[in-house]
Amino acid sequence: MSDKFSDAKKEQEQQWALQTRMVQGGLLRSPFGETSEGLYLTSGYVYDNAEQAEARFKEEDNGFTYSRYENPTVEMFQQRMNLLEGAVDSRATSSGMAAVHAALLSLLSAGDHIVAAKALFGSNLFIIQTLCARFGIEHTLVDGADLDQWKDAIQPNTKVFFFETPSNPNLTLVDIAGVAAIAREAGIKTIVDNVFATPILQRPLEMDIDIVVYSATKHIDGQGRCLGGIVLSSDGKFIKETLQPFLRNTGPTMSPFNAWVMLKSLETLELRVARHTDNAEKVAQFLGAHPKIAKVLYPHHESHPQLELAQRQMARGGNIVSFQIDGDKAAAFRVANELKIIRISNNLGDAKSLITHPSTTTHFRLTEEARQELGITPANLRLSVGLEDVDDLCADLDTALAKA
Ligand SMILES: *Cc1c(COP(=O)(O)O)cnc(C)c1O
Repeated sequence: MSDKFSDAKKEQEQQWALQTRMVQGGLLRSPFGETSEGLYLTSGYVYDNAEQAEARFKEEDNGFTYSRYENPTVEMFQQRMNLLEGAVDSRATSSGMAAVHAALLSLLSAGDHIVAAKALFGSNLFIIQTLCARFGIEHTLVDGADLDQWKDAIQPNTKVFFFETPSNPNLTLVDIAGVAAIAREAGIKTIVDNVFATPILQRPLEMDIDIVVYSATKHIDGQGRCLGGIVLSSDGKFIKETLQPFLRNTGPTMSPFNAWVMLKSLETLELRVARHTDNAEKVAQFLGAHPKIAKVLYPHHESHPQLELAQRQMARGGNIVSFQIDGDKAAAFRVANELKIIRISNNLGDAKSLITHPSTTTHFRLTEEARQELGITPANLRLSVGLEDVDDLCADLDTALAKA
């Protein structure tokens, strides 16, 4: 709705280098002149007089009215994220799933059709397959890596293309620019869930994608504290006229406290993602050469079947390394149970290294057939490489793999 940042301020901040934008961008200081970003824990706002209240509601005065749809701390977080992603506008949400849900449901109506890559985060699949279906929105799931399947799935009522790249848990890639071009020609909106790559390593809007969504719970908070999400777009009209009324009236708002935590996290996001990735590259090399490992899955590893695409659209491989051990479910469980530094958790993007066994946790609700299609076997483990010393992490894996 209202725009608290002047065009001159935005333009100036866009000229700054990334790390300067992440520390200084989008700051709105109060008359107290606080150094750090203010945390405005307030649900509402008072007006000087009835005339001002009237003007705010008529949007003739761009002050704040109610924190379900605008709050100074949340606004600062959104503005800093716009500067990071190269977005025109964005809206923060209470979780990543609130962001995915709002992006899709604000755009789609009964009778519309959505095409999505089948390698999807479980809740994304639920929204498309189960929830959308209940409201008369059809879908087709395709092999996201095959551009012909995207083209062939288009129907006269196709409104949205949706995908994740790299995908969870096996890090298969979708050609972002390729899918964007097909959609652009057919007048279809594109939405990318960019969580695994992070906004530091991959910028879908620069590859002509319309809308990017994040679970800010992952690398953006990065320290396992708060849930949050955000929808960003190069299309300001979509944010203001389609997404904003949906969010304003349904209420999946990011709390000012979480926005404040995430704002402070953005100051270190580039540093953290760089170290996460340094560590993950070494872990991928270590696992790739280990005799107990059948297969390592990492976008920038020489064995990745889409290495050329990874190098084209992702600056680096990110912090998630999946691998298949040479063994069965019991062997994978023994490895996970033997780890001392790396802990078992389905979360990711945290400073702490976390490992999960997808086929019995994040992906256990899928049918056996669907798991097979996605290459998720009982021997697969997904590792979110943290910020610990990488030699300690490799030693931890080595000791545990000896028990496989
Ligand atoms: C975690 C995750 C989500 C959901 O985010 P929440 O913040 O947990 O709601 C969506 N997409 C991907 C790829 C994720 O990893």
